[in-house]
Amino acid sequence: MDYFVNKKGYYGKFGGAYIPEMLYPNVKELEENYLKIMESEAFKNEFASLLKNYVGRPSPLYYSERLSGKYGVKLYLKREDLNHTGSHKINNTIGQILMARFLGKKRIIAETGAGQHGVATATVCAREGVECVVFMGATDVARQKPNVEKMEMLGATVIPVESGNKTLKDATNDAIRHWISHPDETHYIIGSVVGPHPYPDMVARFQSVISKEMRSQLNKQTGSPLPDKIIACVGGGSNAAGAFYHYLNENKVELIAVEADGLGLETGHTAATTAAGTPGIIHGSMTLLMQTGDGQIIEPYSISAGLDYPGIGPLHAHLFDVNRAGFYRATDQEALDAAFELTRLEGIIPALESAHALAALPKIKFGKGEVVVVNISGRGDKDMEAYRKHLLAEKRMKFKKERFKYLFWKFIK
Ligand SMILES: *Cc1c(COP(=O)(O)O)cnc(C)c1O
Repeated sequence: MDYFVNKKGYYGKFGGAYIPEMLYPNVKELEENYLKIMESEAFKNEFASLLKNYVGRPSPLYYSERLSGKYGVKLYLKREDLNHTGSHKINNTIGQILMARFLGKKRIIAETGAGQHGVATATVCAREGVECVVFMGATDVARQKPNVEKMEMLGATVIPVESGNKTLKDATNDAIRHWISHPDETHYIIGSVVGPHPYPDMVARFQSVISKEMRSQLNKQTGSPLPDKIIACVGGGSNAAGAFYHYLNENKVELIAVEADGLGLETGHTAATTAAGTPGIIHGSMTLLMQTGDGQIIEPYSISAGLDYPGIGPLHAHLFDVNRAGFYRATDQEALDAAFELTRLEGIIPALESAHALAALPKIKFGKGEVVVVNISGRGDKDMEAYRKHLLAEKRMKFKKERFKYLFWKFIK
């Protein structure tokens, strides 16, 4: 079984490049050049040097003694939260800004949901000294103010998108529309393993540094490069693609993807694409997506803006289709609880997205002493508002319990 993209840009029956005629020259130019550029010494050297000295790689592989004890396994955390700008997104934007330069593009556009990809893109554009325009749903602009301010401080122009639900899907539509009308000088930095071929493959290759490091770190720490299981959350699927990449053909390594289940599949307020989706075309590729019988996109829901996307990258649709990866779901509440568990056991505040990967731990059957890696895709600074509410609920509950105890003792006295 081959899990990598074929010459035509497909993973099994998913992938391809379903794009309007106007974009054909841009996508074709990228497709014809991306591998040549990525394999050139000049590109490889600069990419490796920036990952090391600018991003701060390799990110640590940390043995979590207390989570290991709780689940009866040897549990390691891959610390993408420690990267510059706070998540794995920078691995991809560093790669793509170099790609743009090697292609001779002078302008960058990007879409963003929570603003993490927007910040990572604005960051590399500042360093490169090129113009950066970020499309962001108006709803997200309002609820992710700190990231909007960061992008503006970094010199980017943030364009609020007023169409549809005014969230990530609509921002992506507008970015593509803008690209169609400014094809020549502009490179579009897509933020995940989605979009027309060759984007899913290119982004997966940039993120694959995660599993490359994992292999040598595990080898040093456990004596083997192979874990028993790797767990990662999936929005579009880029951090999972990076964590799985160098293990795709290692069939003994179990790959586990965790999707956001929002309020729960049965409520309809979910973003669990493999559970709720069917094959269709979104943002230039054939994949699984949440849609109605007549092909209207169903608005996804998750507490985590980074997982709130109605589709999934074609690589993951394929891994699901051929059963190479197991797909789990975690609700808002389960993710919040998991975020608090990691914070209290290890002193690491994870991003809400990453907390979904942790929330799968109680649902998985482990063999005793198995080696398990959880990819911590990002840090939780941006999610303090949601965490603060959870903290308040926790305090109220404690107060109620104390009061009950007090009344109880008073009564029996
Ligand atoms: C954007 C984001 C995700 C989701 O994107 P993928 O492409 O599925 O990785 C996950 N975690 C964090 C911290 C993010 O910022």
